Amino acid sequence: MMVLVGTQTSLIQEGLLSGIDCVNCSGENSLNFRIYSKYVHITMIPLFAVGKIFECECSNCKKEFDYEDFSENDKQKIVTQKEIKETETPWWTYSGIAIVIGFIIFSINSYFDNDKLTKERINTPTTGDVYVLKLDTGYYSTIKIDTIAHDSIYTTENEFKTYLSSDIDDIDTPENYTNKKETYSKKELIELFEKDIITSIRRKEY
Ligand SMILES: [Zn+2]
Repeated sequence: MMVLVGTQTSLIQEGLLSGIDCVNCSGENSLNFRIYSKYVHITMIPLFAVGKIFECECSNCKKEFDYEDFSENDKQKIVTQKEIKETETPWWTYSGIAIVIGFIIFSINSYFDNDKLTKERINTPTTGDVYVLKLDTGYYSTIKIDTIAHDSIYTTENEFKTYLSSDIDDIDTPENYTNKKETYSKKELIELFEKDIITSIRRKEY
């Protein structure tokens, strides 16, 4: 995905400047103002606001003014005009930050949930359990428990491996477990979990 970072503006307030005449045509109540919020976006998702932009146009002579074009006296009137003073940066300009924070909290939570569940399951091996292993090559693969006899846990290794742990579903299919058999003791499996080689345990819940 291409990531685009840039700035964008959005109209957040408009109205008529009260008590200020046009310096160009002396028109009364002819100055229309607009306030824009300027914000940084990443691939069109607003990240945070960087400021406000003030624009003004005379409906009579069509001349445009910036805030800086007004006299000190008029500037004072502008900043104290109620709608202008109370114009707030909209919350949604920060939605990107909220999404990022939400995602981080979600990731941390699921990490701890997974760790807790894996710890629970490693101590109660069950026929049919699929252990997800992180191999020292960086790839992920799985082993499946065939049978358990006393302290011996008989497993079959998956013929396939994947680079992304999220692709485990694609390789965890019955036909991928063929003839690579391996036997572990409970202690060995717990050690593999403690060394973070076993990263999660999939169990069919009936
Ligand atoms: Zn004018």
